[in-house]
Amino acid sequence: MEFLAETEPMLNLNPEQLQQHATPLYVYDLNLLRQTLQFAQQEAGKYNFHVHYALKANANGPILDAMREFGFGADCVSGNEVKAAIENGFAAKDVVFAGVGKSDAEINYALEQEIFCFNCESSHELEVLNELAEKKGTVARIALRINPNVNANTHKYITTGLEENKFGINAWELEAVLDLIQKLKHIQLIGIHFHIGSQITDLTVFKNLCTRVNEFQEWFLARNIMLEHVNVGGGLGVDYYAPEQNLIPDFAAYFGLFNQFLELRPGQQVHFELGRALVAQCGTLVSRVLYIKNGVTTNFAILDAGMTELIRPALYQSYHKIQNLTSQKQEVRYDVVGPICESSDCFGKAVNLPETNRGDLIAIRTAGAYGEVMASGYNLREKAQAIYI
Ligand SMILES: *Cc1c(COP(=O)(O)O)cnc(C)c1O
Repeated sequence: MEFLAETEPMLNLNPEQLQQHATPLYVYDLNLLRQTLQFAQQEAGKYNFHVHYALKANANGPILDAMREFGFGADCVSGNEVKAAIENGFAAKDVVFAGVGKSDAEINYALEQEIFCFNCESSHELEVLNELAEKKGTVARIALRINPNVNANTHKYITTGLEENKFGINAWELEAVLDLIQKLKHIQLIGIHFHIGSQITDLTVFKNLCTRVNEFQEWFLARNIMLEHVNVGGGLGVDYYAPEQNLIPDFAAYFGLFNQFLELRPGQQVHFELGRALVAQCGTLVSRVLYIKNGVTTNFAILDAGMTELIRPALYQSYHKIQNLTSQKQEVRYDVVGPICESSDCFGKAVNLPETNRGDLIAIRTAGAYGEVMASGYNLREKAQAIYI
């Protein structure tokens, strides 16, 4: 780990402190968050890269405050996210707005705020945006979201940069899209945008992305179009299996790779949109054990948290490290499940935990990204509280 701060990063999860709180509970370690953000900005700053925080990973106030403090812009995928960014003090000039299905109301709001850039995903969207901008007597700055057909080697539900996905404009459509843009007087093309997926841990995927970006840059140059910026999206993964060893992702390698392989034109800016890599490790879902139930092959540890608090295991078959914070006994094997009436409501199968009893505190780690934001009220469940330490 090339981390340069004076203290080693660590996650603060003090069982005595947590005992005082009702569960299920989201716990965010703001120290770890700040260390992460500092390191990311330090590495991005080496190359003058601009990083936007993807609000959809976690839009809680204190998280957004920290992002602003460390100079991140905002990457939004809904009108309410644009609103949350503006209301939390992000400057409109640092806000980008992506998404395949922006509604008229969302577009109008973003136009009124004069955000930095709309990342547009189809020619139909361009026509509607042009029309709405014309009605307001303004010009919308846009980047074309291009589908580069690069395989992110990640779960199929979080792969977005393949031709079969709904996202972005395909290479063979670009010529027609450019012809269209030339006719639209209330659209100004300032960049190109890519986002190929999430939880990408193999950096060669990003190298492949750079190669494709360079090819598209050539394509635009051949048509005498100067792009002010290239936005390469987000997707950098985190270590769900050994969070303790890798609390902070290797931003040095990540940004260094783009610096090495992207071929830029003079004066061109590079933008990033990171979500998960910035916030996943600082968040933990803390739960109490309600019951232990003996099954045919394993025992069930039944928690008071379920897929309504953290849906990632049910939705993406994703792994989260599970720890018992209050027992030091001999290890036993459990299926760790929630209380919801769905068999997919399971946090982990055949998990070795110290012998676990009713009332024990269980930590489900690396839950800061795509955790609380995806909570639902299914089964009329109440929303879990969040604390910041
Ligand atoms: C979700 C999303 C991101 C962030 O992805 P992470 O994997 O969390 O870094 C960035 N850009 C766009 C357009 C997105 O939809």
